[in-house]
Amino acid sequence: MLKDLLKQADTIAIGGHIRPDGDCVGACMGLYHYIRENFADKEAAVYLEEIPEAFKCIKGTEDIRHEVEEKQVYDLFICLDCGAPDRLGFSLPLFEQAKETLCVDHHVSNVKFAKENYIMPDASSTSELVYDLMEKDKISLSAAEALYLGIVHDTGVFQYSCTAPSTFRMAADLLERGVDAPKLIRDTFYVKTYAQNQILGRALMESILFLDGKCIVSYIRKSTMEFYEITPKELDGIVSHLRNTEGIKAAVFMYELETNMYKVSLRSDDEIDVSTIARYYGGGGHRKAAGFTMAGNFYDIINSISAQIELQMRETV
Ligand code: AMP
Ligand code: MN
Ligand code: MN
Repeated sequence: MLKDLLKQADTIAIGGHIRPDGDCVGACMGLYHYIRENFADKEAAVYLEEIPEAFKCIKGTEDIRHEVEEKQVYDLFICLDCGAPDRLGFSLPLFEQAKETLCVDHHVSNVKFAKENYIMPDASSTSELVYDLMEKDKISLSAAEALYLGIVHDTGVFQYSCTAPSTFRMAADLLERGVDAPKLIRDTFYVKTYAQNQILGRALMESILFLDGKCIVSYIRKSTMEFYEITPKELDGIVSHLRNTEGIKAAVFMYELETNMYKVSLRSDDEIDVSTIARYYGGGGHRKAAGFTMAGNFYDIINSISAQIELQMRETV
């Protein structure tokens, strides 16, 4: 599928979802290196919003374009780790104008909006799917590092249940190509700035249990983010800490995008399907990890979400 589409295209744009995470950056950069190194006659470019500082260790990230040039029409737009067109953000016009489009993704909420769609909701990550589509003798160390970043982040360092035997086989293959896994994992996943750790501490300290202690919620106001000089993309990981609380079936983390507008992250154990809740609010994601944006104040939002979680809990008894 990928081979045929690449053969027919001279110019290729690669794009991913807004507020790009490790999998999104990894899949895009992995494919970018793959195309540039093996199809030298083709023009390839990656379009993503500003990426977290820690991911800039991935080679080629300085080439990422953050805005669309006027009148650029690509032969092929490859959309990665993105479940709906509006999640493409600023690169949506390029997608719409491209002659051919391919979407590779693992979100259960994916609406199959491209002409060609390769959607595998059970896959660990989009990076694993991109790897599946690649010819194995054409993957360089630079591409391998990017793809490794993707699987590490979407599996929580091989912890989440989406981690399959195939994920470990892929990781082993990438290691054999020379990826420095301990360094990549530490530098991009575990190391946080002092300010990030402080804000994590606050979020944990101010967290509240609800629904008889089965759920936990915490939130960060815009003023707090400004005080610590933290941007939204630096808040990744806080919701996982909340989920690690004993006895918790669902964790909710919210941060204020603007006054009375929150980005909400949901995480659950296997019992509660949070992607259904996120979809109800116009967002999406996976069964155990999903998100959406919602207007209102903290108390309105958490009351509303609480009712949806209860509904999901009843569905599963
Ligand atoms: P997050 O809580 O932002 O880490 O997101 C968890 C998962 O849900 C990721 O796979 C996201 O791509 C997905 N997701 C988050 N927000 C949205 C949204 N507004 N619409 C669709 N999917 C989302
Ligand atoms: Mn993602
Ligand atoms: Mn992903």
